Amino acid sequence: MEFVDLKAQYRALKVQIDERIQRVLDHGQYIMGPEVAELEERLAAFTGARHCITVASGTEALLISLMAMGLKPGDEVITTPFTFAATAEMIVLLGGKPVFVDIEADTCNIDASLIEDKITDRTRAIMPVSLYGQCADMDEINAIAARHGLAVIEDAAQSFGATYKGRRSCNLSTFGCTSFFPSKPLGCYGDGGAIFTSDDALAQACREIRVHGQSARYVHTRVGVGGRMDTLQCAIVLAKLERFEWELAQRFAIGKRYDELLAGTLGVELLKVRDERSCVRSQYTVFIEGREAVQKALTKQGVPCAVHYPRPVHLQTAYADHAAKADCPQSVLAGTRVLSLPMSADLTQPQQDRVVRALSSALAARTG
Ligand SMILES: *Cc1c(COP(=O)(O)O)cnc(C)c1O
Repeated sequence: MEFVDLKAQYRALKVQIDERIQRVLDHGQYIMGPEVAELEERLAAFTGARHCITVASGTEALLISLMAMGLKPGDEVITTPFTFAATAEMIVLLGGKPVFVDIEADTCNIDASLIEDKITDRTRAIMPVSLYGQCADMDEINAIAARHGLAVIEDAAQSFGATYKGRRSCNLSTFGCTSFFPSKPLGCYGDGGAIFTSDDALAQACREIRVHGQSARYVHTRVGVGGRMDTLQCAIVLAKLERFEWELAQRFAIGKRYDELLAGTLGVELLKVRDERSCVRSQYTVFIEGREAVQKALTKQGVPCAVHYPRPVHLQTAYADHAAKADCPQSVLAGTRVLSLPMSADLTQPQQDRVVRALSSALAARTG
């Protein structure tokens, strides 16, 4: 069994993917070929955002968004420490200061009720992460941002396709940044990502920053990066879009079935998905006391599992300078309890049953 079954997905889409790749090899426009604009149009329409700018990775999407909004050294960005490091990393890379706010214990997303206390005259943006594929309390976060004149950047690397009150993730705030890393809900076969915004000027800034700050060829209007997503990767995502709606339905159904099978299992607590939100389950993650032993037992039974994430960012050496004022006990606790189980649109019911049986027996063995 695979943790994320990309081979089954390729078998199902082989004809479309091979054909799309061949078309790129035939026309030979490997950088900014026609598939780039085609994908950007399709994804913008899918999310409802006015603009989509594909970029080299999810990390690059965060970086370029922060550059486009003009983040300066010393500026503060409020974010969550319970995430992949890239979120805070791009703030620090630009000389900004990540200000860490704790998470809600049941969703693992930033606790919006704690944000306003952390706003100072240096705060420029709020960067919530739609962890495990579920959006944070974006209405409340947007309202706080509006009161204080801040930008909101959704780190939607894990949530492409999720909905929040009927709207799509990536189209909920100033910027939505997603990743097409292979194991994400919509993945390519290498690195890729995209920025979404409905602000024309910010979209233009992102487009320029993506190609070394050029507003026209060899006209460098600003400092940028080499941040393009290549044509082949765009072609692969286009092929994968052909059954993406089906994959989303599968992800919702598999998540629901896991919840039903595990409900009431002693020693397992389920992640809460809030009303009016759908969770695309980039990971299917539960809370388990004494996780280490359970993780070992699962591995021994051939059931792959993973921890997202064992140690919150504010406790990582590289971010020590920004940890002093961080008071994030829920993030630390979650780091000791979360466990992600095999998840992908192609996970079969027998496979899922096997995971649940293995987990139940691991828990039973533990309690003796
Ligand atoms: C994967 C991920 C990223 C980085 O995306 P890449 O495409 O790997 O650069 C950023 N933030 C979160 C929350 C992620 O899960």
